[in-house]
Amino acid sequence: MNLIFDAHLDLAWNACEWNRDLKLPVKEIRKFERQLEDGPMGDCTVSWPNLQKGRVGVVIATLLPRLKRRDSEMTFFQSREAAYASCNGQLSYYRALVEQGFINEISNVSELDTQVDLWLKDSDNDRPVGFILSMEGSNSILSPGQIHEWHEKGLKILGPAHYGPGPYCHGTGSEGGLSAEGRELLVEMQQVGMLLDVTHFSDESFWEALEIFDGPVLASHHNCRSLVPGDRQLTDEQIKALIERGAVIGASFDCWMIVPGWKKGVTDPNDISIEDIVNHTDYICQLAGNAKHCGIGSDLDGGFGKEQSPGDLETVSDLQKFASILENRGYPQEDIDGIMYGNFVNFFRRALGE
Ligand SMILES: [Zn+2]
Repeated sequence: MNLIFDAHLDLAWNACEWNRDLKLPVKEIRKFERQLEDGPMGDCTVSWPNLQKGRVGVVIATLLPRLKRRDSEMTFFQSREAAYASCNGQLSYYRALVEQGFINEISNVSELDTQVDLWLKDSDNDRPVGFILSMEGSNSILSPGQIHEWHEKGLKILGPAHYGPGPYCHGTGSEGGLSAEGRELLVEMQQVGMLLDVTHFSDESFWEALEIFDGPVLASHHNCRSLVPGDRQLTDEQIKALIERGAVIGASFDCWMIVPGWKKGVTDPNDISIEDIVNHTDYICQLAGNAKHCGIGSDLDGGFGKEQSPGDLETVSDLQKFASILENRGYPQEDIDGIMYGNFVNFFRRALGE
């Protein structure tokens, strides 16, 4: 089994907001949640033991200032101070597990290499998952200058946008660019060496951000607009610009970003397979002329569950199927290793070393 690098998992959000004990196997989390009246929005697919079982040894783990509510109007914090507090709480979740030796925090190149070696040395899965700390959305950053505080707290990556307009920029489903504060935010990020995740930027914000920000950029969980229309996906021009900047783009596993016309509760997830996601990866590889800019950023349990994931995925352990699909399509082992983990590892070797 390949080592896997998953570039987008909202683990602390699931633990704190959805009240999931991620130290349990997925099977047990589901069993517990099925007895609840106001249960989860979907069947859980991610937990630490299932990451280990699937050899997902390195991840980008987020802080996500969002609420878990059935009413979609109520998923955003009404005050930025509460969003700030929530992200600090999620950070404490990761740190508690680090203190127990249950997971490893990766904050520099040597820790990254140690973590990768730990998983590559043999086929044993009983070892800690390593994570790089990121934040999705920026409502929880109270001012551009507060980037310094978050940086000191260990935040390595920021994706300023999420859904709709925010204080710094416009995100998915909204039109507009960066605010004056948003431009300042990017300047502060570059000053402290924080990496920019462009996922969820509106088109205007995307181009403005690339203009202002000179540091390393990635697209943690992002598919192709040529295959699935809509502003949540990257245009060919955006993909080309990212390739030029040395970015890696993580393939996302949320059904509505995989095939066109997906309708929640209507489209059968069994009509969608991991093969359909590989189409996006393959599309980017063809645009790039190589396989060096693709990775996986599954976003599993990022507000949806098994009912909105490809039918041939039961838990996050099934990310392994990605490798055999690439193999069947004639990708050489070197490229498969790159897509499964190597491209993101190399990206962070460069980015964390700068
Ligand atoms: Zn997202």
